[in-house]
Amino acid sequence: MNTLLRFAPSPTGPLHLGGLRTALFNKLFAQSHGGKWILRIEDTDASRCTPGSVDDIRRGLDWAGLAYDFGPGADNSRGPYFQSERLDLYHTYAHRLLETGDAYRCFCSADELQIKREHLKAAGSTSTYDRSCRKLTEEEVTRRVKSRQPFVIRLDDTVAPALSPFSDMLFGDVRDAQGSLPTDPILVKRDLFPTYHLASVVDDHEMGVSHVLRGEEWLPSLPLHRSLYARLKLTAPIFGHLPLLLNPDGSKMSKRHGDVRVSDFIRKGWEPDAVLNWLAFAGRNLNNPELSTRPASVNELISSFSLDHYTNRRTVLDPVLLSQLNKRH
Ligand code: GLU
Repeated sequence: MNTLLRFAPSPTGPLHLGGLRTALFNKLFAQSHGGKWILRIEDTDASRCTPGSVDDIRRGLDWAGLAYDFGPGADNSRGPYFQSERLDLYHTYAHRLLETGDAYRCFCSADELQIKREHLKAAGSTSTYDRSCRKLTEEEVTRRVKSRQPFVIRLDDTVAPALSPFSDMLFGDVRDAQGSLPTDPILVKRDLFPTYHLASVVDDHEMGVSHVLRGEEWLPSLPLHRSLYARLKLTAPIFGHLPLLLNPDGSKMSKRHGDVRVSDFIRKGWEPDAVLNWLAFAGRNLNNPELSTRPASVNELISSFSLDHYTNRRTVLDPVLLSQLNKRH
């Protein structure tokens, strides 16, 4: 199988240090295995997309010299993939799940769902939905669809498929990773856009992604993704989740402790290699015997890269670096 990775940011804000690290690791892993990597913009949640984010992401990657390998288009031009341009594809897969009975249409309105949630909570249930639409007859569903009643498509999670043994490249056996996923998660929303979960699984399969390297925050989604691969009878890629970058006080990296936007490094005149070296060496479990007095170039980082050098230990951001970035000129 060809090695293919993807950096798949949602354009919900500027590119941050964590995103840059994910992009860097995708490139390092791909190219150290003689493979390729692509950029996929996950813009399926219109309410969270912000103008200018895609440009900011591309500018940050360009500045860092992280050129992805190819993009859509007959000439394989290097534009990124945009999920918002691939809706038909997600619908095809959602219909497949409807046909096999792995998914069902839910016609409940937002108000109805809120009332149901409150009832379930009051009754001491941890469910977020009472699955009432799963019990609708086929005739009733057809009638509602014909009368154009809006619906979402939910996964029927009452019967989970058997999953094969699995090991995350950094976290190892995560069989017990408990997600805080809602009951019968939504796969296609009322606006006909897919949710992240469906779009990500479909695209990783359709694009031939062999390895997924993404942030630890997606670990709780893994059981759902693996379940979708199994139900759709697709081979899942190999997964690796990169441990979080933390603030000096151990909290999750956020703007609270200062800007960690890539654009700030650019504005402050940082050398891209200095930032990439810091990201590449953060969280390593071995000393690099060839550590030199100058930053390694991206090509040097590629030639010495192995995921075996890393653990799932979280990395704390250097407070000096943060204060430097925060100093206004
Ligand atoms: N779109 C997600 C994000 O921006 C990435 C999810 C993934 O890589 O699977 O964080």
